[in-house]
Amino acid sequence: MKAFIAGLLDLLFPAICVGCNDRLVEGETLICTVCFNGFPETDSHTLIDNIARNHFVGKASITYGFTLYILRKKSHLEQALFAMKYKNQPKIGYILGQRYGNILDEAPMMESIDAIIAVPLHPKRFKERGYNQSDFFAKGLSDALHIPLYEGCIERTRYTASQTTKNKSERITNLQAAFKVRQPDLLTDKHILLVDDILTTGATLASCTNTLLAAGVGQVSIATIAIVEESVASV
Ligand SMILES: [Zn+2]
Repeated sequence: MKAFIAGLLDLLFPAICVGCNDRLVEGETLICTVCFNGFPETDSHTLIDNIARNHFVGKASITYGFTLYILRKKSHLEQALFAMKYKNQPKIGYILGQRYGNILDEAPMMESIDAIIAVPLHPKRFKERGYNQSDFFAKGLSDALHIPLYEGCIERTRYTASQTTKNKSERITNLQAAFKVRQPDLLTDKHILLVDDILTTGATLASCTNTLLAAGVGQVSIATIAIVEESVASV
């Protein structure tokens, strides 16, 4: 009976892929296999010197940088990430976290990572959206890698909504004091994998990294779902 109802529901409201809008087949969740095969992966888990890590030169001292995909305009990946962020589909973040975790599990660079932390949203932004997509990505990574996820040990203290009206140096200064570590003792000398959804300027991740290092964290590495294509070209 349960299967019959599920079948009927699928007929009436077919599950569609959040990337390409095609119908999902059995065994697929949210993102279809064709999309997954088409999303442009980076090789950042195989190289220490890579596009993700290079992004932070002169901004923050990170140990390793990892990013799963290159994000191109008007792509199926862009549509999927838009749904994750703005259409109440944070589970997409979890699926991508698990997928990336399975890839990173093979990387020797992961061996020294002690814990995973997601870049927090400001409480006001969190309330508006109802969730932080980076938390879901971090949870997926944590589950696949069997590395603990530390929640609530860093908070965002400044609401940075008007960033776009400031120039670059003002933006960096503005972000500098945007985070506060709540449980520094837990983090002392640890190697933290700091995760966020999309890597654009890197200013937020750099600011968060610098706050963690100043609080006594041993090393910080970075992982994101995707890096924006234009920002790769500008490196
Ligand atoms: Zn698709």
